[in-house]
Amino acid sequence: GCITGDRVNGIVDGISGSWYIKFDTFTPAADRGLPVTRVISRMTLQQILARAVGDDAIMNDCHVVDFTDDGNKVTAILEDGRKFEGDLLVGADGIWSKVRKSLFGETDASYSEYTCYTGIADFVPPDIDTVGYRVFLGHKQYFVSSDVGGGKMQWYAFHKEPAGGTDPENGKKKRLLEIFSGWCDNVIDLLNATEEEAILRRDIYDRPPTINWGKGRVTLLGDSVHAMQPNLGQGGCMAIEDGYQLAVELEKAWEESVKSRTPVDVISSLRSYEKERKLRVAIIHGLARMAAIMATTYRPYLGVGLGPLSFLTKLRIPHPGRVGGRFFIKVGMPLMLSWILGGNRAQS
Ligand SMILES: Cc1cc2nc3c(=O)[nH]c(=O)nc-3n(C[C@H](O)[C@H](O)[C@H](O)COP(=O)(O)OP(=O)(O)OC[C@H]3O[C@@H](n4cnc5c(N)ncnc54)[C@H](O)[C@@H]3O)c2cc1C
Repeated sequence: GCITGDRVNGIVDGISGSWYIKFDTFTPAADRGLPVTRVISRMTLQQILARAVGDDAIMNDCHVVDFTDDGNKVTAILEDGRKFEGDLLVGADGIWSKVRKSLFGETDASYSEYTCYTGIADFVPPDIDTVGYRVFLGHKQYFVSSDVGGGKMQWYAFHKEPAGGTDPENGKKKRLLEIFSGWCDNVIDLLNATEEEAILRRDIYDRPPTINWGKGRVTLLGDSVHAMQPNLGQGGCMAIEDGYQLAVELEKAWEESVKSRTPVDVISSLRSYEKERKLRVAIIHGLARMAAIMATTYRPYLGVGLGPLSFLTKLRIPHPGRVGGRFFIKVGMPLMLSWILGGNRAQS
């Protein structure tokens, strides 16, 4: 991984590139003796986890379509007709979860109103030693860049538009350079340094966490129950914290069963896991939505978004909302970061 938490991180104005607010991501973690923010490639993390559990515990090409729970065991039913029995089933099958659908029926995911282009480039900005990641704000569009180590920068470009849009072949980079034309060099240089093939596009959806996460011997984990917008970089982190809490609860139930010489109470341990996680996840889900709203309503200069008065933009008069927003972020952000970066405190 690549540590970004000990450098300057924060929000800048997309056009001028000047700092709007800098976050202290170091103190909240260091104060609690926790590691500071580290960016890690999903594939590298998966390899580390796969090595830890061993190859024989992992089976690919198993598309779960349904399950049955008879009270004593759960049977997962695969698309190809195979069936697997177990003491419990954890639906960690992402935002379009089949397990959630079987548990609670079909529900729509919420479209964030933003499409997101992501890319990775061999690019080392001149201020790499001092800056970890930056969020560049604009009106109805924003851009995030982060050092991911090894001489590479990862970026996300968000643009407000209806879902389902597509680009012509080899058209993504061209479109992005148009959308972000006039933005500061940090954004344009990074886009220019990115190969067309390294750019992906997806529409951003989330799912508000439900009151119930499971039933009987079945539970949900991660995006299947609380897919959130990526603005705080917390979706994967919350899935990992869920996994940790689930392991803690199952271990407690197992220790209890050894002590009392009774069967492991799987059902109660799943409900305890859900209870421990619900509040923290719901708050972070809400904060991620709030961050999106802030980014959406950001107007750098007077005139932006004012139709016939948009000529005022040229005068570069700071928008009054920006001043109010800065005050809110200055006071609210340290408290919020301290709580998020302080981790799953129930166990610390
Ligand atoms: C643009 C973007 C940027 C992000 N940035 C960050 C970030 O910086 N930090 C962060 O913490 N999070 C980030 N996230 C969020 C993060 O990607 C997700 O929250 C995280 O991947 C959720 O993990 P999960 O295991 O719950 O689901 P997923 O990662 O979606 O994994 C679900 C798995 O289940 C499998 N599956 C699906 N259906 C079935 C089925 N029927 N049977 C069997 N298997 C099935 C899938 O193949 C997949 O492997 C970002 C998301 C986006 C879109």
